[in-house]
Amino acid sequence: MLDELLSKNPDLKQVFDLTVTHTKYRKRETINLIASENVMSPLAMLLYLNDMMHRYAEGKPFKRFYQGLKYVDELEVKASEIMGGLLGTKFVDLRPISGTTANAAAFRAFTKPGDKAVVAPVQAGAHVSHTRFGTLGALGVEQVDMPFSIEEWNIDVDKAVKLIEEVKPRIVTLGGSLYIFPHPTKPIAEAAHSVGAKVIHDVAHVLGLIVGGVWPNPLAEGADVITSSTHKTFPGPQGGLFATRLEEDYKEIGKVIFPMFVSNHHLHRLAATAVTGLEMREFGREYARQVVKNAKALAQALSSRGLKVVMEEKGFTESHQVILDVSKQGRGTKVAMALEEAHIIVNKNMLPWDRPEDVKDPSGIRIGVQEVTRWGMKEGEMEEIAEFIKQVVVDGRSPAEVRKKVIEFRRNFLEVQYCFKISREEEVKLLKLMLHPD
Ligand SMILES: *Cc1c(COP(=O)(O)O)cnc(C)c1O
Repeated sequence: MLDELLSKNPDLKQVFDLTVTHTKYRKRETINLIASENVMSPLAMLLYLNDMMHRYAEGKPFKRFYQGLKYVDELEVKASEIMGGLLGTKFVDLRPISGTTANAAAFRAFTKPGDKAVVAPVQAGAHVSHTRFGTLGALGVEQVDMPFSIEEWNIDVDKAVKLIEEVKPRIVTLGGSLYIFPHPTKPIAEAAHSVGAKVIHDVAHVLGLIVGGVWPNPLAEGADVITSSTHKTFPGPQGGLFATRLEEDYKEIGKVIFPMFVSNHHLHRLAATAVTGLEMREFGREYARQVVKNAKALAQALSSRGLKVVMEEKGFTESHQVILDVSKQGRGTKVAMALEEAHIIVNKNMLPWDRPEDVKDPSGIRIGVQEVTRWGMKEGEMEEIAEFIKQVVVDGRSPAEVRKKVIEFRRNFLEVQYCFKISREEEVKLLKLMLHPD
């Protein structure tokens, strides 16, 4: 039936083929090292396919503007409880549909146009949403950058404290997308609170490391709010959340998220986020530890093969990320594209010394090992990946030749780890239940 449908409708065939081919390409034939991505477990994916994707809910659980949501309400409360348990707070809101949306709501809750924000600078890895070019700018809030210390690859704490005391901003933001060492929440929060500013620490990249206990939880160190995506080191569906220490902040931001930034919050995410949270509760520690071990192992293996990995003097990284300076190998664009041809997927990235005009061809490559860790790879495989990268980037071997070895290597890692396991028969049963719940 399907073959006939596809042969009769070329547009349908194209849509179908692109989807299936992409899935095979990225799930089976490439080594995915994009630092902001991950894969869900089959159980989480199957529950994601539920009917809630068709439904509308506006407002908070049990106080909605639509009927028919009694199970959604309970599920949303449960999912928030599960995430709250992992983060050590009762105040978690899963309605932001992305990390950027969570930032928008948190920034808007505590500022008015014309107010000032002191932010971790782009050199410290800050996301565009924290800048005048992104959400902060859209809200009319003035961006004041904290000073950055390149020796520490971190915020210069003493200078940042002075700046906060001088500027007296309404909010201070921490966290980043290029993020190898934890930003110093404690001293920054003390300074911020002394001038009445709220601290919003954006943990989009490191949420999975926090719930796995290998990265400091900013809420325990004095941040008022964390904002996050739910699909980077935390391997859930694409989405966002915010969490607070205090109930009043939770309510304030909650009043902003709806109606200002989200009406319906893509309800099918809730089940998948909850399942992923439960998986992290059970396997998160082991997963997060392996992620950091793998990142360090890959960094070391790349460095000993002649690549410039930043911050060797401080052990390269404490997160899932490894940062390469490829200014000697033809810069970021060329290197990222050559690796793509070899089926090794990374992104080019600005490094602290790059100038704004370098944005199209920066000197860095950002690598994340969280997804390959989920596929079951350990330190030994990091050596092999480093060797593939070296062959392309240092030795100038033909990417097409390396690609064959990459695809062969990738075939050994077909099952997502650190998750609840179900049988293939049960997967089919669940799929049927979602499609035809008779
Ligand atoms: C990825 C990222 C975001 C944006 O998250 P989306 O879910 O893509 O909107 C926000 N902040 C930081 C630090 C990020 O790395």
